[in-house]
Amino acid sequence: MLLIFDLDGVVYRGREPVPGMAELLSHLDARGDVIVYCTNNSRAHRSEYLERLRGLGLPATEDRIVTSARATALALVDPALVGPEVAWDRDRAGDGDGRPVMVVGAEGLAQEIRDVGLATVAPTEEGRAADPWAVVVGLDLELSHGRVSVAADVIRGGARFIATNRDPVFPTPTGFVAGAGSVVAAIEAPAGRGPDLIVGKPEPGLFIEAARVGGGEPGEAIVVGDGLTTDIAAAIRVGARSVLMLTGVTSQAQLETTPPNARPTLVARDAAELAAHLEALRG
Ligand SMILES: [Mg+2]
Repeated sequence: MLLIFDLDGVVYRGREPVPGMAELLSHLDARGDVIVYCTNNSRAHRSEYLERLRGLGLPATEDRIVTSARATALALVDPALVGPEVAWDRDRAGDGDGRPVMVVGAEGLAQEIRDVGLATVAPTEEGRAADPWAVVVGLDLELSHGRVSVAADVIRGGARFIATNRDPVFPTPTGFVAGAGSVVAAIEAPAGRGPDLIVGKPEPGLFIEAARVGGGEPGEAIVVGDGLTTDIAAAIRVGARSVLMLTGVTSQAQLETTPPNARPTLVARDAAELAAHLEALRG
């Protein structure tokens, strides 16, 4: 069985593990299920998540961790997602040694893009001079008027505009802060248009790439997540069945006011209920 697990609100909540999940995931892994971990986070490289997941006692390998940064990098070399012009560019460039990708985001995102064989440049005058064919936008803590201006200018000049995700905010221990979607919006205004591709949830790209690294089709996967408008919406988009965990951002009351076509296949309050549901879905 191909299982796509969201992270925050499902396997951990902030720094605290969700009780019983490490045991359940170890059991599923031992019996041969394929577990792929997914997050809309675009800042950290997979290696940072690997350390964190292993620290919680979860079965994980770097290949089976798909952040929106990793999925974006995979999408950049996937003509089915980014379009024929990219395949053409790569053929012309040969082994990715051609025009670079401009990254408006964290070093973890740039590293993921280099990991798939593409060169990266920063949103600076020097970066613009390297003639990037795409501008990839994630959460950028160094965002400035200059970085926004250069990125928008490169997009106006014809480069692809690709967003890791459109989350307007994300939670921190001290409250909500501006997310990658805020950076996308800042560039969208001067660029005069929106992104060509948004990879993260609720768009389907993240789960498409997650299913691919898990060796299956998205429609065969079971998505386990805590967000109705992110995890469950994306699961519905790719035709996957889903289990909504009530261990994170969604309450029972919110679920009850959700229209039937936006609901998960099943709902679990804890790891024990999830275990029972997964057995039932195994069929
Ligand atoms: Mg979550």
